Amino acid sequence: MISERPRPLRTCVGCGESKNKEALLRFSAGPDGSLVLNLRGRTGRGAYLCPTRACLELALKRKGFQRTLKVALAEIDKEGMLVFLS
Ligand SMILES: [Zn+2]
Repeated sequence: MISERPRPLRTCVGCGESKNKEALLRFSAGPDGSLVLNLRGRTGRGAYLCPTRACLELALKRKGFQRTLKVALAEIDKEGMLVFLS
């Protein structure tokens, strides 16, 4: 099923703002409990984040990834994630 909605909105797990999903990075939980960037992923649960360091910090502080993905994540590799952020 393909949605005809022109602008699907997703909520950033950091700042909590709803944005066009093209403007956000999509992460999902890997099999080992790590957080993986999953830009094109359509399977499983995804957590969306603005591509900014500020939102990453907020998401980590609020445990936004864990709450959204509903899994216990291994320690998040913050330094690794900064590569994707501006
Ligand atoms: Zn944000």
